[in-house]
Amino acid sequence: MSESALKSLTILGSTGSIGRNTLDVLRRNPRRFSVKAISANTSVDEVRLQIAEFHPETVVMTDPDAFAVLQKEFGSLIRTGDEALNEICSREGIDIVVAAMVGFAGLRPTLEAIRAGKRVTIANKETLVVAGELMTALAQITGAEIIPIDSEHSAIAQCLVGESRESIKRIILTASGGPFRTRPAATFGSITLSEALRHPNWVMGRKITIDSATLMNKGLEIIEARWLFDLPLEKIDVVIHPQSIIHSMVEFCDGSVKAQMGAPDMRLAIQYALGYPDRLPVAYETLDLLKNNRLDFEAPDVEKFPCLKLARNASEFGGLYPAILNAANEIAVEAFLDESLSFQEIPQIIESAIAHAEEDAARPLIATPLDRINEDLERIFHADNKSREHARQFIAESIS
Ligand code: MG
Repeated sequence: MSESALKSLTILGSTGSIGRNTLDVLRRNPRRFSVKAISANTSVDEVRLQIAEFHPETVVMTDPDAFAVLQKEFGSLIRTGDEALNEICSREGIDIVVAAMVGFAGLRPTLEAIRAGKRVTIANKETLVVAGELMTALAQITGAEIIPIDSEHSAIAQCLVGESRESIKRIILTASGGPFRTRPAATFGSITLSEALRHPNWVMGRKITIDSATLMNKGLEIIEARWLFDLPLEKIDVVIHPQSIIHSMVEFCDGSVKAQMGAPDMRLAIQYALGYPDRLPVAYETLDLLKNNRLDFEAPDVEKFPCLKLARNASEFGGLYPAILNAANEIAVEAFLDESLSFQEIPQIIESAIAHAEEDAARPLIATPLDRINEDLERIFHADNKSREHARQFIAESIS
């Protein structure tokens, strides 16, 4: 392979679940990819190991204490602040930016990567939820590629290779149903944190694991799919598939349905996004169909899991509603992880934040032209702040 085929990467969120899995893909494909910059928040020990193994040119630590500790050891290799984060996303010579930060915090650097025309492989679904319209509009102008790492969206992207958008009748996102699929709703009041963190099929970060338990994850994925594939909401369906073998499906106008299947291993989607349009010859876990010989499907229960409906509604309302939904959810999940909120209160907080949205919340984003995107961003950041405030207030009142 020629030297020019080596792709240079920035990984935002290198110590999270997606970040670590991405580095494992790199470890197994050393002649194809090289990591030039990473960012992390507080995980000092993990970053030390990553520096020793992958030799990045720049490491951005967003947490000031973690920055101080590592800067003493590594000097100018370690940087901090928004400017440094933006710089590693737009730096010349970087081919691919892996957006794997958790939550809304990933929005500005991800936009910076899109603005710079990079390939952005995106695991950070929250950014697509709050600003998917802006991201895809911007990518069309700059030529940036946005390639999903989320397994469902990777599956759909794979099913759509060689197909026209007009031929899509609907896409079908599969959902495992999470740990409480069969648990009676009447007992939801006693759900504990450790029960909610026990995902049946996937090993993931804590935030997304809770989102999977409430089905908010699937709600966010509906909104994510809307922007990634430029489809109206009524063409996006969800079906519960407890085995997580089919990662998602597309039904076409002729009645044909394509499904993408595989073992539930994030590295498959990561490697596909990094290598696209090539498939790289490294298989992680292969799917044994004889051992996994059942495919079950059921309809999602939106009464039991109201987050799914809340997300679809927020997307339908449009404008700032997805940002309001996302912010309230981030605060609610944080509080649940701190054990200062019950499982059932998560959708209540979100519903309340949506009900208290400001009057102009449904006003559509402008999205283009480029120079007006900042107006949209101001509105989004304002709505995000307000919603977080509202959610915190709700939690404070429910505790007292
Ligand atoms: Mg997913």
